[in-house]
Amino acid sequence: MATSVTLSTGASMPIVGLGTWKASRGQVAEAVREAILAGYRHIDGAFFYQNEDEVGVGIHAMIEQGVVRREDLFVVSKLWCTFHVKSLVRGACEKTLSDLKLDYLDLYLIHFPMGFQPGDNPFPVGDDGQAIADESSFLETWEAMEELVDAGLVKAIGVSNFNHEQIEAILNKPDLKHKPVNNQIECHPYLTQEKLIDFCQSKGISVTAYSPLGSPERPWAKPDEPSLLEDPEIKAIAEKLSKTTAQILIRFHIQRNVAVIPKSSNPQRIKENFQVLDFELSEEDMKTILGFNRNWRGFPMDWANKHKDFPLNAEY
Ligand code: NDP
Repeated sequence: MATSVTLSTGASMPIVGLGTWKASRGQVAEAVREAILAGYRHIDGAFFYQNEDEVGVGIHAMIEQGVVRREDLFVVSKLWCTFHVKSLVRGACEKTLSDLKLDYLDLYLIHFPMGFQPGDNPFPVGDDGQAIADESSFLETWEAMEELVDAGLVKAIGVSNFNHEQIEAILNKPDLKHKPVNNQIECHPYLTQEKLIDFCQSKGISVTAYSPLGSPERPWAKPDEPSLLEDPEIKAIAEKLSKTTAQILIRFHIQRNVAVIPKSSNPQRIKENFQVLDFELSEEDMKTILGFNRNWRGFPMDWANKHKDFPLNAEY
């Protein structure tokens, strides 16, 4: 079973990465160090997580101690929504690079298809409770992303939270220079994303699954929402294979050739989440897990559902 996903550029993206959203300042550098010591080589970050400087501290500690070299790591970041206007893209990428103290990223994604009003407030909200849109189109943003590849700031570019029509629009751009290599989307047994994954993979676009454990720390979680980590049927599969529920939830993606980026700041759980490369789910277990789909989203993005580029109105 592959331990990495091959991108259309030919680069290898390690199939399990460390998520860093909500990894608190003061803890995240240690989490990155623990992860690299445990064998992780893929780190998923974003400007919006407001911790990239500390992620950088963790990375550099491991490089300085000789545990890894820069080229052994696959570092991902994302362009935030307030930087979609073409003239703002390069500066946003340079800010991330300077926070991480790196001179290139392995992959830079447009975090969401929706652009927001530029400015110091990363989440400008109008009286209607909706994020305030900017004037940009993600097709123009894509052109500025392409320039980052040409300038050597990033090795590859991709998208996140894009539906298949939005990806198609990029692929059909008449003057397309660099294809998206990855779409990072919410994916887990309650949102199996079969159509979108098939579409992306048929176009040579790799997929990364975010919130693989159901994102229990998401601030808008409600008590009556389903919990993947507590699901009795997934627990039963875990018990049968003497694995933890989290390990089953992570392994599920690997067998679909989908990269997966569980977040943890806890050394024990960081190790646990990486111990998923030495066992297999049977075809039958995979089918059973796919059958748990209920199109439930931890990230319904209600705060932008009136935006012209809101992605979740399309079927997939
Ligand atoms: P996850 O589904 O990865 O869940 C993380 C939570 O699960 C944390 O509370 C963590 O707590 C807990 N946890 C981790 N491991 C275990 C375990 N083995 N057993 C029990 N609990 C565990 O949620 P995220 O939403 O953080 O998604 C993962 C990553 O995906 C993000 O960190 C981010 O990098 C990316 N992401 C991208 C998005 C996008 O729009 N592109 C949106 C959302 C996420 P603890 O730390 O205490 O272990």
